[in-house]
Amino acid sequence: MSTVYFTDFRTGSKGNIATKIRKMFETGGFSKAIAKDEYVAVKTHFGELGNVAFIPAPVIRIFVDIINGLGAKPFITDTNTLYRGCRSNAVDHLKNAMLHGFGMECAGAPVIIADGLMGNDYKTIPFDGNHYKELKIASAIYNAHVAVVVSHVKGHELYGFGGALKNIAMGCVPPSGKQTIHSEFKPRVKESECRACGKCIAKCPVDAIAYNANKKAQINQNICIGCGECVVVCPYAAIPVVWKTSHKPLHERTAEYVKGILDTKPGKWIFFNFIMNVSPDCDCFPWNDAPVVPNIGIAASFDPVALDRACTDMVNRAEILPGSRLYTSKGECNVIDKIGGQGWQSLFECCEKIGAGERAYELVEV
Ligand code: SF4
Ligand code: SF4
Repeated sequence: MSTVYFTDFRTGSKGNIATKIRKMFETGGFSKAIAKDEYVAVKTHFGELGNVAFIPAPVIRIFVDIINGLGAKPFITDTNTLYRGCRSNAVDHLKNAMLHGFGMECAGAPVIIADGLMGNDYKTIPFDGNHYKELKIASAIYNAHVAVVVSHVKGHELYGFGGALKNIAMGCVPPSGKQTIHSEFKPRVKESECRACGKCIAKCPVDAIAYNANKKAQINQNICIGCGECVVVCPYAAIPVVWKTSHKPLHERTAEYVKGILDTKPGKWIFFNFIMNVSPDCDCFPWNDAPVVPNIGIAASFDPVALDRACTDMVNRAEILPGSRLYTSKGECNVIDKIGGQGWQSLFECCEKIGAGERAYELVEV
């Protein structure tokens, strides 16, 4: 059974949120996982422009200050997105981060986009899984000695909920890795958009792409291994992102990524979940609908499975806020089930089965 530490958002003259987070660091033993001069990745999500539900920069600064106080070197980080929004390359991503307050002035530490300018700065590691024999991890996160993953608990259109597990699996990998997690189906070229630039042909690791008689790129589905690189490299979006999937394989692939990423630095992953502004959709959307439950508190653990499990339990037990998307005249529903896809619990099962954490937890109030 794993321990999950929890505090609510009540503060007063005896202490503020920073005081509470510092106490969690000490009580949970998280400070001991960070040594002097170590590089510490503070992994968060800067929020797509138009979204304001993400964890604010001044809150991230509390973590930065704690890490600085331990003599280590924090940097704030995230990876580029698979879809073409405000965060699909490091230039746009950094602009987005700055507009949301993430920079030295407000967040207190440099921002590094972990997978580089165009999402191709990553480390490939071997993995013995059913879905993967190798995994791609963003270089800056891979190279950091410690990772403090600060996640916003909310709904998610695909997983049902978003928290620490998704912040590791999707959040620590480059866009091509995200594509392989998202779908088991292989990409196809949209001929009308192809301008025959040849970039996908040069990038494909197994020579699955060639020009057809119309001088348009064509993917040989028998050769393609579904690595996702061509989707990311095409400058004209002529190879669309493949979103089609089913929940079980999605959860299995996600669990394999979680396990492989955690194993890169055992005991050096620290997870904090903020159960506040629990919007029904992911922060990747350029909006955030009204919170579906009241702000609940902050939870932390070394075990992301136990942590997300505890947070989903707390959200599911909370009252549904009138006027939110989930509010019905009866006011009764399972929040996480309602805001997300079916079968969200299977992600916990898959993670536990592969040894990425435990579903059973003990909640310790700090
Ligand atoms: S990268 Fe895109 S535009 Fe260039 S050849 Fe491939 S599909 Fe066509
Ligand atoms: S997904 Fe990977 S293997 Fe398949 S065509 Fe694209 S680059 Fe080649």
